[in-house]
Amino acid sequence: MFTVPTAVRKLLILSSLPVLIVVVVVVVVVVVVVVVVVVVAAAAAAVVVVVVVVVVAVVVVVVVIVVVVVVVAAVVVFPACGRRFQSPIDIRSSSIRYRPMAGVSIFPSDLKARVQLENLGATVGLTPKGRDILFRGGNLPGTFRLHNIHFHWSNRDRAGSEHKLEGRGFSVEMHIVTHNTKYKNMMQAAGKRDGIHVFLVWLQRAARPNAGLGFVFNEIRRVRTPGAQTNGGLINIASLLPPPTVPYFRYQGSLTTPPCTGNVQFTVFSVPLSISGRQLAQFRLVNLRTATDPYLMTNSRPVQPLDNRIILTNSPYYR
Ligand SMILES: [Zn+2]
Repeated sequence: MFTVPTAVRKLLILSSLPVLIVVVVVVVVVVVVVVVVVVVAAAAAAVVVVVVVVVVAVVVVVVVIVVVVVVVAAVVVFPACGRRFQSPIDIRSSSIRYRPMAGVSIFPSDLKARVQLENLGATVGLTPKGRDILFRGGNLPGTFRLHNIHFHWSNRDRAGSEHKLEGRGFSVEMHIVTHNTKYKNMMQAAGKRDGIHVFLVWLQRAARPNAGLGFVFNEIRRVRTPGAQTNGGLINIASLLPPPTVPYFRYQGSLTTPPCTGNVQFTVFSVPLSISGRQLAQFRLVNLRTATDPYLMTNSRPVQPLDNRIILTNSPYYR
């Protein structure tokens, strides 16, 4: 695997391509203005001004070159990150349409699953060990197998989630990543229209701790270092989801981290679950690190353009 420069990685995660294009345009305009000032100053024969402006011009030109190289590298290395229909998005009622959709069921029905907690560098994840955990119903295009459960957070209570609801962020966003059982694994499912499905649960800071994630908070101290993992424990997957009566949103997006693969379907539960301040602090004490970013402070990508997508909901009240 090639190493992606930190600057490219950050720009990719924190920006969309239109933002990068705006940056380039602004820098080019600044260069043009500086050149014009140099010409005017030279005409006025003010030597000191000419020297100062030339130095500034050289610095600006170097910055332009760096930005252009970064943009080109970003487009070449992770082209999907700059494409349309990316995730996360801000879910706004103006784009929501009602469609009757059933509730989601999890199998096996005793719901106790053995999982291993691991610091994956960019996040903390739960990986199933042993029996398959399957998701059916909910108008899913097939049966989906649990791949992993991971979390996005930041140091701010209202800015940890990646997706927003009517412009509002939440403390933590949980991604339950699954792939269609008609494909052997995530790799084969990636990019297929019915391949990858992410169940998304928001956690909002409140007085009440999150009981379903008890196992995670019992063990999270042991995985503060990237690469660390626990022996595993039993978790009730259904207890991680809101009650079946909570409406959900459904839309087509992408992975929120490079390679930003498209055709990822999301089920977003509309009501956040609680997480206590103490539990939240445990997430924030985890050291995150990627190959290119040794001190990752947040692992949430900002919202991306909606690109006229329609968001479905199974609640008639959003009509
Ligand atoms: Zn995620």
